[in-house]
Formats: sequence, structure tokens, C-alpha cells
Amino acid sequence: MAAAARYRRVLLKVSGEALLGSQPFGIDEKVIDRIAGEVGQAVESGVEVALVVGGGNIFRGMTIAKAGGNRVAGDHMGMLATVMNAIGMHEALERRRISSRIFSAIPMPTICETFSQQRAERALKRGKVVLFAGGTGNPFFTTDSGAALRAAEMDCDALFKGTNVDGVYSADPKKDPNAVRFDRITHADVLARGLQVMDAAAVALARDNGIPLIVFSIQQPGAFVDVLRGEGRATIIAD
Ligand code: UDP
Repeated sequence: MAAAARYRRVLLKVSGEALLGSQPFGIDEKVIDRIAGEVGQAVESGVEVALVVGGGNIFRGMTIAKAGGNRVAGDHMGMLATVMNAIGMHEALERRRISSRIFSAIPMPTICETFSQQRAERALKRGKVVLFAGGTGNPFFTTDSGAALRAAEMDCDALFKGTNVDGVYSADPKKDPNAVRFDRITHADVLARGLQVMDAAAVALARDNGIPLIVFSIQQPGAFVDVLRGEGRATIIAD
């Protein structure tokens, strides 16, 4: 028999890039459907799941800034991209009859609910998946920071970061054959070594609020549920 999940409530951060599948842009329906199914399995196992989806598959503010454009306008576009992904994820969850609600950091009441910690808390307690869209609602931040902020606000036991690799390495494993993978590392070490796992603001916020970061490959089918049970391959960032 499979071991029970070790967590009461988690926040799963999925980068926009993870939704690309083999496409250069947008959402691969097969990928979003698989991830929705895995979130559903986690909920069925009794874990409360909050979800943050990035926007990098659609737009990043830095793209405009690098071309000499207005960073703030670019970041607004990036935050809107995260809302588009949240709507896509909500639809994928609903198709599987997994009840979910979207809470946006930026009010857009004809499209979704505006973030309220109290309402999100009630939804999680009722076993609904909550989707946090719009990042922090502010330019010059990322959805990693948005995820760390919401994980702290919602008192999550851990922040799961689903990436394209199976953990944190000493260097980019695609570029450096000598890169070493960590099973466990502290927030302080991640910051001191400048490891590119999440942005520094997100790691610092997690450290200050005692939130473990669990880095795993979202590309590996079933990994999220396995790691929730303490069985899968992941790096745990904790003090
Ligand atoms: N963004 C922002 N503030 C936030 C979160 C996101 O301005 O609090 C913008 C920013 O332009 C960012 C884009 O939204 O590049 C998409 O988010 P992110 O790059 O974090 O997405 P991911 O890399 O996870 O797909």
C-alpha cells in the first residue's frame, strides 16, 4: 500500500515553461491535463493544494525591458499572462471534476475572484484547489516570489517547485557534466552559493517564514504525488 502523504497543505508552483510541452509558445493541452490530474490525485489523498502558475510560456516583462521598453508595462503584461494560465489550469481541473477557484492579485471581477486570504483559506479547507493568479500584483517581482508570499500567507507546510530538472544542482546539469545534485541543502546555502533555483527574494521569504522548498521535475509524470509521499526524487531546501 502506498504511504500516506506527509503534508497537510502545500503550494505547488509550476513555471509557465512547463506548460509549453513541445510547443514554442502557449499551453500544451496534454501537459496541463496531466498536471491537473496529478493535482487531483494529491487532493484525493487528503492534501490541500494551492497552485501558482507562472507566465513565461506567454510573456515576461524582461523581454520588453531588454529591448529598451517600459519594464512596468512589460511586467503588467507578464502578470496578465499568469491569469491566462490560471484560467487554462482551472478549465483543465474542471474537466476532471476537480473543484477549484481562481484568486487574482489584480482585481478583474468579471474574470475571476480577487485574492482574499480569508476566502482562500475557506476554499482550501473545503478541499478545493485554489489557483493564485497575477503573481504578487506588483512589477519587479516574479511568480516565484508570489508563490513564496502566498505559501506564507496560507500557512503552507511546503512550497513545491516543479521545474524541468529533478532537483537543485551545483551548476546547470545541461551545461556542466560535473554538476552535483543535492538531496538536501539549506536556504542560506542556496543564497550564499547563488544557486539558480528560485529568485533570491523568494528563497529569503521562504527562509524567514520557515517554509521548506521542495524542487522536483514536473516533467516526470507522477513525480508530484510521489514526492508528496516522501518517495520521489527531489531536493529539499530546509534549515
Ligand atoms: N510578474 C510580475 N510580478 C509578479 C509576478 C510576475 O511583474 O509578482 C511578471 C513578470 O514580468 C514575469 C511574468 O509576470 O516575467 C511571468 O512570471 P514569471 O517570469 O515568474 O513566470 P515563470 O518563469 O514562472 O513562467
